[in-house]
Amino acid sequence: MPQKTKHTPMMEQYFKIKEDYEDAFLFYRLGDFYEMFYEDAIKASQLLELTLTSRNRNADEPIPMCGIPHHAAKGYIETLIEKGFKVALCEQVEDPKTTKGMVKREVVQLITPGTMMETKSLEAKSNNYLTAIVADMSSDQYGFAYVDLSTGELKVSTLKGKESVLNEASSLQTKEVVLGSSIPDSLAEKLSQRLNTVFSEQFETLQTSELSYLTSDLTQPLAKEVISKLLAYLSNTQKRSLGHLQKAQVYEPTHYLKMDHYSKFNLELSQSIRTGKKQGTLLWLLDETKTAMGGRLLKQWLDRPLIQEKKIKQRQEMVQSLLEAFFERSDLQETLASVYDLERLAGRIAFGSVNGRDLIQLQTSLKQVPRIKDLLVGLDKGEWTSLLERLDPVTDAVDLIKKAIMSEPPLAITDGGVIADGYNAQLDQYREAMTHGKQWIAELEAKERENTGIKNLKIGFNRVFGYYIEVTKSQLANVPEERFDRKQTLANAERFITPELKETETLILEAEEKSKDLEYQLFINVRESIKSEIGRIQNLAKSLAAIDVLQSFATISEKYQYVRPTLTSASHNLALVEGRHPVVEKVMGHQEYIPNSVIMAPETTIQLITGPNMSGKSTYMRQLALTVIMAQMGCFVPAESAEMPIFDQIFTRIGASDDLISGQSTFMVEMMEANEALRHATPNSLILFDELGRGTATYDGMALAEAIIHYIHTNVRAKTLFSTHYHELTALEGQLTGLMNSHVGAVEKDGEVVFLHKMLEGPADKSYGIHVAKLAGLPEDLLKHATTILASLEAGDTPIREIPPVVEKETLSISEPFEEPVVVESKTTRQEYEESDQLSLFGGLTAEQE
Ligand code: ADP
Repeated sequence: MPQKTKHTPMMEQYFKIKEDYEDAFLFYRLGDFYEMFYEDAIKASQLLELTLTSRNRNADEPIPMCGIPHHAAKGYIETLIEKGFKVALCEQVEDPKTTKGMVKREVVQLITPGTMMETKSLEAKSNNYLTAIVADMSSDQYGFAYVDLSTGELKVSTLKGKESVLNEASSLQTKEVVLGSSIPDSLAEKLSQRLNTVFSEQFETLQTSELSYLTSDLTQPLAKEVISKLLAYLSNTQKRSLGHLQKAQVYEPTHYLKMDHYSKFNLELSQSIRTGKKQGTLLWLLDETKTAMGGRLLKQWLDRPLIQEKKIKQRQEMVQSLLEAFFERSDLQETLASVYDLERLAGRIAFGSVNGRDLIQLQTSLKQVPRIKDLLVGLDKGEWTSLLERLDPVTDAVDLIKKAIMSEPPLAITDGGVIADGYNAQLDQYREAMTHGKQWIAELEAKERENTGIKNLKIGFNRVFGYYIEVTKSQLANVPEERFDRKQTLANAERFITPELKETETLILEAEEKSKDLEYQLFINVRESIKSEIGRIQNLAKSLAAIDVLQSFATISEKYQYVRPTLTSASHNLALVEGRHPVVEKVMGHQEYIPNSVIMAPETTIQLITGPNMSGKSTYMRQLALTVIMAQMGCFVPAESAEMPIFDQIFTRIGASDDLISGQSTFMVEMMEANEALRHATPNSLILFDELGRGTATYDGMALAEAIIHYIHTNVRAKTLFSTHYHELTALEGQLTGLMNSHVGAVEKDGEVVFLHKMLEGPADKSYGIHVAKLAGLPEDLLKHATTILASLEAGDTPIREIPPVVEKETLSISEPFEEPVVVESKTTRQEYEESDQLSLFGGLTAEQE
């Protein structure tokens, strides 16, 4: 902070305010501008490309300054927030005209990434979460709460252990984290390493009782404390009505299918590993929602698939009803598409930041409700019945808006033109004065022409004199001097006013002025009465969101021919017949994708998958994980038929295709993920290990892999897919009753290796690599040598490490004289595969080949 002495009173005021907002840009209102000073000005001028000037330029220590016109502030604020900064809006809270001395200024709102309300900068189909965390270190328990201020959603949970806090916070993709004083530095540090977000602190709990009803259902002390801190932070920063916040809902992470953040990331549920975007993810595939609320709810369902059989079945039933319904689904979709973001509209109504157009959007949205009801009326059974009952068209609000608001109002609410004709008698009178003003003037003009006999007498208007009567020089003799008051002389005319003209003028101008004020007041009243319906609007939004997600499920199930899976929590039988990876299938097309079954009887724990790189092992594993997630969300699944247990957790160690395991640290991550699974998985969990152990030396890795398989088989007993390069592990099938081998088939065709992407029973052929090498045209002698080494390795002997004879380059015998380099193709069509009858299968066919 610069020297505070010797400054003007205004700068003194600035410093005093800035003291409380050290970590924010202080937008200090000066007339029509927001000014920033010192560091704020220097940083902002760079970030926002503004000109940096200085106050008291000629002083010894000029003050760096930069300013933004207040009407353009919105865009600049959004830019700063998007870049992860905070902005404190400091306004003049007294009218400078009526104040002597310094105008009082106050920060009226602190805008932060987690409290952004402007819909333009919020992604419609994503939530904008702000998270708060408090700790009870003695029990290693944490109060964890999050809010989406734009929608009013408020959730709270009590978590055990730091890792679950880190996991919840990363999964939420929270925009800002508010930490209570009880958070230890070590956790704060980890959070800031893991999350790329803004951190804030909140030490006091909520003082005012205005929001305490939101916490009235909470009993757990940590949950109470964290919500109280979160609300205190919101009310301290927003300083206005938060009436749209919904009662804190307690949630329990263990009531949902548990996946850690890395698994969600690796499975590309909502974020592509390569691009970080939605395109190419499961969410992208599933999303046929038409409303913003539906889009957000879908993402929430994807983040928390269910584990209760009853609830999953309810959703399945509802999807099924939609699929069997008689109405055109496109009609439902079109109607939903006319529904605006009701949750965020409700939020902005409470916040006081809606305009006339927003209310028209609200009305348009509410008007769709009866149509949606009409369409869905035939589904009136099971859960649909209660959902339809809950569809409240909030008719009072529709009627009020219809009566009160113009059908095409302007953006501003202070310039008039917002309130409909006929809504308020006084306003109608003003309007009459305004529209009839012209007529009155015309009538007055005609009257004065007649009175004076001046035919070309004109009434005009300018900003300086208002209305005036203009008479040309030639007619001046006819001007009644006693009535006409001279105001201006022009080259060939003179301008006059009369008391009557001024009276009319006052009526017209006053009407304009007063009607604007009245309209504004009326608008606020309308907004306030709609505010009292916010709860109903929010409930409606919830029901519409659910309808939207369910129709999205029905739509994709039909579009991609998915089936309804049979899920049972009691059974461990997994029979996914001819399953497909939904995203890969969508990208490459149904015809191209080779379906694969995952059949694991109740007593089978581990499927050990062998096969070369790029043959489709990890696609197969991901296929199962995504299918499980879809099924437990209540969606249908990509398969011919599906019988599945309900899983409680999914653990993965799957590298992305370009994730080349190299360094020790990557291996460490691999082992940590394995550890997570081995310690926390239950017999109801799903484990996917893709080439575990390849990050270390061969024997080392193989030994670990084998031990891990044993451990899972005997102790964990979770259903596990384990892909490996270590062919030796396939021998475990004889020892472990719950382990089955499988491999990916490949064929040789016209001198090319073609992976069939087809999973077959049994282990892969061990000499597979040598076959590929042969096809690639490696020297014959080398291949022979490799075969000998392999044979002795298989026999358990130490390989004969004799140096093969030197071969002259010219006489080098090449196994096959290829003209062009061999392509190892990773794709074939199903048709090609079925048509080719002279294909030699590498996988599984050992006898013939050996
Ligand atoms: P691996 O894990 O064995 O190295 P991947 O699962 O990464 O192999 O698959 C490699 C490529 O093969 C994928 O990118 C995909 O294009 C293709 N592929 C995999 N499975 C199938 C399938 N069932 N049908 C068609 N193409 C597939």
